[in-house]
Amino acid sequence: MTTPDGHRGGPVGFPAADPFPTGAFPIPSALSHAVTGARYWLPPQPAPAVATAPAPHPAAFDVEAVRRDFPQLHREVNGHPLVWLDNGATTLKPRQVTEAVGEHYARETSNVHRGAHTLAKQATEVYEEGREEAAKLLGTRDTGEVVFVRGATEAVNLVAQSWGRANLGVGDEILVSVAEHHSNLVPWQLIAGERRARVVPIPLLPDGQLDQDAYRDLLTNRTKLVALTHASNTLGTVPPVAEMTALAHRWGARVLVDGAQAVCHFPVDVTELDADFYAFSGHKVFAPTGIGVLFGKREVLEAMPPWQGGGNMIDTVGFGGTSYAPLPHRLEAGTGHIAGVAGLRAALRYLAGLDREAATGYEEQLTAYATRALSTVPGIRLLGTAPGKIGVLTFLLAGADPVDLAGRLDRQGVAVRAGHHCAQPALAAYGVTSAVRASLAVYNTAREVDVLVGALQEAAGA
Ligand code: PLP
Repeated sequence: MTTPDGHRGGPVGFPAADPFPTGAFPIPSALSHAVTGARYWLPPQPAPAVATAPAPHPAAFDVEAVRRDFPQLHREVNGHPLVWLDNGATTLKPRQVTEAVGEHYARETSNVHRGAHTLAKQATEVYEEGREEAAKLLGTRDTGEVVFVRGATEAVNLVAQSWGRANLGVGDEILVSVAEHHSNLVPWQLIAGERRARVVPIPLLPDGQLDQDAYRDLLTNRTKLVALTHASNTLGTVPPVAEMTALAHRWGARVLVDGAQAVCHFPVDVTELDADFYAFSGHKVFAPTGIGVLFGKREVLEAMPPWQGGGNMIDTVGFGGTSYAPLPHRLEAGTGHIAGVAGLRAALRYLAGLDREAATGYEEQLTAYATRALSTVPGIRLLGTAPGKIGVLTFLLAGADPVDLAGRLDRQGVAVRAGHHCAQPALAAYGVTSAVRASLAVYNTAREVDVLVGALQEAAGA
């Protein structure tokens, strides 16, 4: 039996013949954590079912072929082969994406939508094809529902400032899960302050799931919007978004889903989710920084006032009054990130070219493998063990400062993130302010997990 990437055995004490022996690593007490002093817990839940790796299917997904497309995976850092486990912060870029961006600047530079010449037409074609790819990724046929923004942060701010200002009033409530990244919390606090509305937390259960009983109780006719992550950047939790959205809709509330950590890990369908808004950042799905997408249902976007004014978003302009362009341009003032969209188009085509089912299955196996391997490190405490979580492994090591530990790993070529992960309430729920996070992507391997775990075992003095 082999690991998901076909690796047999590991350097850190895993059984050479069978790195996935069910039950070989006992579930450590760290995984059945009952955290005291936390602010958001309800009564303790049954221990989560983790650490059972599914049988591997090494032939189903050719990770080495994928790795060949990512040049950065083949460089050294501090004298060691790079082990990139900071995918939650940003993913690496395949050469198809860097070539597309280079090609735009080297040979195809032009503005879009406003030129009569050939290159303007070509650039516009690429730009609108990027929009079509984003529409396909999200499962909508209507490209008018796909608004280009800088990233997930700008998408949420757009909704808060435009929809929120038009729809929130005194005493209205915005339900925001405790698992959210700050970018799906602070914009709501800002607009709530202005409109004298309230931001209300949806609490977590100890394993990092969103507490569904509490959620049902919090929904009232004061609820105007529910802000939910589709995959937590700190706990890895994947909430039951479709069910939560259906409940919110019964109360007439809109739902914004933050898909920043979701789109590159599993297929998304906004139609099935029935989300009113869905946001993601290109750079977390193999595309360049500075480009992202806000999906909004047409009827919701149509009713929203423009957020920013300027070129590209108007129909006619006069001192007597201005009329606006149709969707999505009405919400896209100014020159967009054209090279970024060229890169996004390439990235989404790259993703679509993978066997998504096999890729997701591979990541699931790798996540299960990494969870079990990490749990063998003495003194480790994993935060977030919800069933079905993505490959985000946030942890503490007894006696080690997270930032120092990340520095130690970096010296061995292992890139992880340490700190609050822009999710301070999520960490506060566990009674901590800082942790280390290793986040996996489809090009990571069990061998790389072994390098991480070996370095942690060394740090733990095992
Ligand atoms: N939402 C989640 C879950 C994230 O992980 C991040 C970034 O880490 C964001 C939103 C914000 O993304 P960006 O900084 O690209 O706008």
